[in-house]
Amino acid sequence: MGKDTLSINETRDMMIAVANKIIEAEPILTDADRALGDGDHGVGMERGMNAVKEALEHQEFASVGKVFMAVGMAMMSSMGGASGAVFGTLFRSGGKAVKDAESLDAAGMVAVFKEGTEGVMTRGGAKPGDKTMVDALLPAAEAGEKAAASSVYDALVAIADGAEAGREASKDMIATMGRAKTLGEKSLGKADAGAVSVAIIAATMRDYAA
Ligand code: ADP
Ligand code: MG
Repeated sequence: MGKDTLSINETRDMMIAVANKIIEAEPILTDADRALGDGDHGVGMERGMNAVKEALEHQEFASVGKVFMAVGMAMMSSMGGASGAVFGTLFRSGGKAVKDAESLDAAGMVAVFKEGTEGVMTRGGAKPGDKTMVDALLPAAEAGEKAAASSVYDALVAIADGAEAGREASKDMIATMGRAKTLGEKSLGKADAGAVSVAIIAATMRDYAA
């Protein structure tokens, strides 16, 4: 079953649940980035998500899009670095796709992931297969499009499945972007840290909408 649409306040509460889940996953994200990068992804995301909670808690928003835009702004301004820019862009670009909507339906949810992914790719320059968060985002957005005419919950089931499949597939990719690039073939076998974050974010959104 699951929810058909999400109100503005439900969208806000869903993103607070996402923030709590990412904060809880800090050790997992740290380990993932330690294997391929510099190990700061967990702490960076934790800092970003604490800023997200501060921006969302006890606030009222005029649209669902403004909730996502506030998430992006908080991440961008608190995290810094490559991932602050790309995760900030994900939610700012995604939020703009539903900036006047007073509720979030399946099509709106899919638009958030689709526009957010396009924003990340434009801003960060990563292509599919480069072993970045794009490799979780793109299959998530594509899977969502097939469920865009259903409930927001069904769309999020598809989106979370796509993100999880992409996270898993990133293990078989050789990094060609960012810090992991220097590892070349040694980057095989491990999932990209940003893709791990995207899979957790999507799964938490799905569980909220259940
Ligand atoms: P940093 O790379 O500055 O140490 P983090 O460790 O927090 O930042 O985040 C690394 C993650 O950010 C990577 O695993 C990747 O998924 C994502 N990322 C980094 N650069 C890009 C980019 N240009 N495009 C898309 N995603 C990126
Ligand atoms: Mg890092």
